Amino acid sequence: MTYDLIIIGGGPAGSAAAVYASRKRLQTLFITAEWGGQSVVSEQIYNWIGTPSLSGNELAENFKKHVMANGGAGQTLEVKEGEKVTKVEKKGEKFSVKTESGEEFETKTILIATGSGRRKLAAKGADRLEHKGLTYCASCDGPLFSDQDVVVIGGGNAGFESAAQLLAYCKSVTLLHRSDVFRADEITVEKVLKNPKMKAIKNVDILEVLGDKFVEGIVYKDKKTGKETTLKVSGIFVEIGQIPNTDFAKDIVPLDEYGRVKIDPMNQKTSTKGIWAAGDCTNVLYHQNNIAAGDAVRALEDIYLYIHTK
Ligand SMILES: Cc1cc2nc3c(=O)[nH]c(=O)nc-3n(C[C@H](O)[C@H](O)[C@H](O)COP(=O)(O)OP(=O)(O)OC[C@H]3O[C@@H](n4cnc5c(N)ncnc54)[C@H](O)[C@@H]3O)c2cc1C
Repeated sequence: MTYDLIIIGGGPAGSAAAVYASRKRLQTLFITAEWGGQSVVSEQIYNWIGTPSLSGNELAENFKKHVMANGGAGQTLEVKEGEKVTKVEKKGEKFSVKTESGEEFETKTILIATGSGRRKLAAKGADRLEHKGLTYCASCDGPLFSDQDVVVIGGGNAGFESAAQLLAYCKSVTLLHRSDVFRADEITVEKVLKNPKMKAIKNVDILEVLGDKFVEGIVYKDKKTGKETTLKVSGIFVEIGQIPNTDFAKDIVPLDEYGRVKIDPMNQKTSTKGIWAAGDCTNVLYHQNNIAAGDAVRALEDIYLYIHTK
């Protein structure tokens, strides 16, 4: 059979798309490796609109419940969970989607919603203390560090924007950056560095995250002098980039220099006719749960029009 649509990914973008696709009665296959997406690891999420607070696991369960309520027997939505897409290829006017378990599906359109993963800090102790004071999301976890000394790692826009958020409640914020030049916009750097609670140190290598049960400090080396310094902090916010999950699509849609799918933000279309993308795997400026879900809904409206006016 040929599906109208295959949705790849079960985070907020893919799950929102699946609900809309089902309600629009598009013959849809939804494939996801896991449910919930990146914030599934969060203890609490406070900004998912309509729910004042819920854990990442609850968010994932809710996505599954909502998608399943619209899928299954007698419905136009079929769900394949625990399955990874490995390749998307053009097949005449249609596309073939291959999965890790060797299955192959045919479809008229595709929505790529495979999100991304954070580039992880490669320093001693970083893995062990992740979610124990070392985190990858200032807007999610920042308020837990109220009146404490924290470090931000990364001198790009994400690093400086995280620092700006943290300055609202932390006692002090020290930003550590690996090179001589900040990659963030000058105006942001200037504004953030004006805050008396803020300090930034360039040209550092992060050597170790210290702590037994929770983060207690960080050790870094000055690349120019070789001097090692230990900072006592209770929070470490890592912002050293994202790695989009787009490898399987690199031969079918144009990606930007970071591997993100290039889309038209008016309608989420890629320049490959019949393929849309939404959420963190795309080259939009801001990435959050609500944004990913909204982007996917925008894509679905456009996919529906495409299928019914083609
Ligand atoms: C620790 C952390 C906490 C966060 N907390 C918040 C928060 O509190 N509030 C907020 O708004 N945002 C938060 N964010 C950001 C938010 O999680 C992302 O913006 C959002 O998850 C992006 O949604 P997405 O659907 O585009 O992608 P993702 O959430 O990345 O979901 C992608 C999905 O695709 C699946 N997938 C990947 N590759 C394949 C493949 N090849 N085949 C099949 N399936 C695949 C994955 O299993 C996953 O289910 C947080 C991020 C992190 C890392």
